[in-house]
Amino acid sequence: MKHFTHMEASSAKEAAQNASKGDAMFIAGGTDLIGTLKDEILPTYPITVIDLKTIGDMDGIEDAGDAIVIGALAKLADVAESEAVATGCAALSQACERAASPTIRSMATIGGNICQMHRCWYFRTPDDRFHCLRKGGEYCPARIGDNRYHSIYGDQDGCYAVSSHDTAPALVALGATIVTTDREVPAEEFFRANGARSNVLEDGEVVTQIKVPKAQKSAFQKFALRKSIDFPLVNCAAAQGQDGACRVVLGGVFPAPVRSEAAEAEVSGGISESSAQAAGDAAVAECAPMSKNAYKVEIARTLVKRTLLDIA
Ligand SMILES: Cc1cc2nc3c(=O)[nH]c(=O)nc-3n(C[C@H](O)[C@H](O)[C@H](O)COP(=O)(O)OP(=O)(O)OC[C@H]3O[C@@H](n4cnc5c(N)ncnc54)[C@H](O)[C@@H]3O)c2cc1C
Repeated sequence: MKHFTHMEASSAKEAAQNASKGDAMFIAGGTDLIGTLKDEILPTYPITVIDLKTIGDMDGIEDAGDAIVIGALAKLADVAESEAVATGCAALSQACERAASPTIRSMATIGGNICQMHRCWYFRTPDDRFHCLRKGGEYCPARIGDNRYHSIYGDQDGCYAVSSHDTAPALVALGATIVTTDREVPAEEFFRANGARSNVLEDGEVVTQIKVPKAQKSAFQKFALRKSIDFPLVNCAAAQGQDGACRVVLGGVFPAPVRSEAAEAEVSGGISESSAQAAGDAAVAECAPMSKNAYKVEIARTLVKRTLLDIA
């Protein structure tokens, strides 16, 4: 691992100011960042790593009436165990419960979860061996290489890695808002398919809070190869807001979470076995898998149906 200076931030503002030049990175639980630094997967390295855990008041989980407000430093384990989250935003509670392992969940933060880098075996190969599009290179090796875990959404010029954060589809389905040191961003606009980051954050922007509106009903489903600890092959969240309308979001299928308005339209008259099946079919109608990942289309279709039936 290359050397860096370690700085303990006392406030989000201080952390943001010290990272604004673009040569620093933030660390929260470190469960993602430390691996990327050790393996030297990136073409350039931070001079300073700014520790956010020393910020005192950023890990709360508060019931604010219509919404649950979660500090970015709240641990995934604490979100999963929160009764307020389980009652008001069940999909998020279930997503945190299914992420990684108990040990990782007790270190990993929700802010870090939504900011983690993409999980792609080309992107993550040590020593920047595949200088892929996401790192400023000229091609995505998954297009011609082993793409069994990659995007199933057709030909595109960009990256084929998938968004593998378990909390992301839940936050988009629930209509959450990501609060940073500079602005408030709807979760639906926060995640980004291309570019160096998996999200729209600028240099020196710290996620401070996540506001999650309470839903009438919501649910999360995940399919992974191992039950104990594994990233999602596909995950899905559905939420029925206070107005009765459903939002359906898939993860693990594209470089950013995919909201399916076509699936939502199929259940606008109510959720039944047949409308949930039609929603599953609609959600994958535009998929165009690559050479080795057609099996993921069937998983996505089934997860949409199962997740909707969970909230029927
Ligand atoms: C073996 C293993 C299995 C895993 N399985 C899963 C899984 O099944 N599902 C899943 O969703 N995830 C999984 N993960 C990923 C893990 O959940 C995430 O790494 C974790 O949530 C990241 O949180 P963290 O606090 O450790 O982030 P860190 O590692 O500290 O940071 C991750 C990234 O986010 C940035 N960052 C952190 N906090 C902030 C903030 N407040 N504002 C701005 N930027 C910030 C950092 O700069 C860094 O780039 C797994 C990880 C491992 C190692």
